[in-house]
Amino acid sequence: MTRQHSPDFTWNTIDLVFLDLDGTLLDKYFDDFFWEEYVPEVYSQKNNVDPQECRQLLVSTYKQVESTLQWTDLNYWSERLNLDIAALKDEIAHLINIRPFVTEFLEHLKDRGKEIYLVTNAHPRTLEVKLGKIQIGDAFKRIICSQDVGHAKEQIEFWETLQTIQPFHKERTLFVDDTERVLDSARAYGLKHLIHIAKPSSKLPPVFSGSYPSIESFRDLLF
Ligand SMILES: [Mg+2]
Repeated sequence: MTRQHSPDFTWNTIDLVFLDLDGTLLDKYFDDFFWEEYVPEVYSQKNNVDPQECRQLLVSTYKQVESTLQWTDLNYWSERLNLDIAALKDEIAHLINIRPFVTEFLEHLKDRGKEIYLVTNAHPRTLEVKLGKIQIGDAFKRIICSQDVGHAKEQIEFWETLQTIQPFHKERTLFVDDTERVLDSARAYGLKHLIHIAKPSSKLPPVFSGSYPSIESFRDLLF
């Protein structure tokens, strides 16, 4: 069992907050269900393949492009799988959900005058579906998609380019994400205040990071 690190900053040292979307603000259960259950089910029906075999095949296909911009690109998957991925997301949009204490946290930041930015690997079309369902879009000063930056957040180039698009002070910015590889690239770029989300999916037990302050919900940042 890894030792759990608690957040170690005070709000008066922070001006800007970068927030990830899936697994941080929104329940990652939607994405897990979509890619691991729903897409394989539809694909197996359409192509007459055994569902279990199909699931294994697709999961290994996803792994080939993990942590790249392609993984996040709906058009890439629509072409590769010959399915209308955006339309399939719409079909199960009722499963999109906000994570615990997100509304309170956004309000907390606003009250303290922090600038909030959404920094996400989500494709613009996915964002449209998600922010249409969960109306938190107004909280952000700006929404930055990795598709616009040209690199996935797991790549250090993402942060180098982001600095030119939306300048930020490395020591006065807080970044919250549920993916350690993303936090690793942010740390390599020099971001000082990083927080890991240990429970991105409501359906899975928490897994705390051994490398970053790691929280189950934003209740831990309401100080
Ligand atoms: Mg995430």
